[in-house]
Amino acid sequence: MTHVVCKPCYDCKYTDCVVVCPVECFYEGEKMLYIHPDECIDCEACVPECPVEAIFLDENVPEEWKEYIQINAEMAPQCPVITEKKTPLAEK
Ligand code: SF4
Ligand code: SF4
Repeated sequence: MTHVVCKPCYDCKYTDCVVVCPVECFYEGEKMLYIHPDECIDCEACVPECPVEAIFLDENVPEEWKEYIQINAEMAPQCPVITEKKTPLAEK
């Protein structure tokens, strides 16, 4: 299993989530973050940190966002890792 970043993250990137991840498995796309499914250890630390509730355990991803399970798996390996909080896109 893994945790998955879903649509509410799009255009936000508050990145509160990345600083709590013990295995640094968040990756930074142009518009949102992705979790690498082979690296996430399902510790759930990131879930309460996300102000827009974008992160779900894969089996709990709401039906309309199921595609994000695949999107995270495809995009995370192509993006740079992010381990420090950044200015939210919305505030730039
Ligand atoms: S805190 Fe939530 S919305 Fe912000 S970057 Fe992390 S997953 Fe995306
Ligand atoms: S559940 Fe834990 S290991 Fe997985 S992305 Fe969130 S903080 Fe990182």
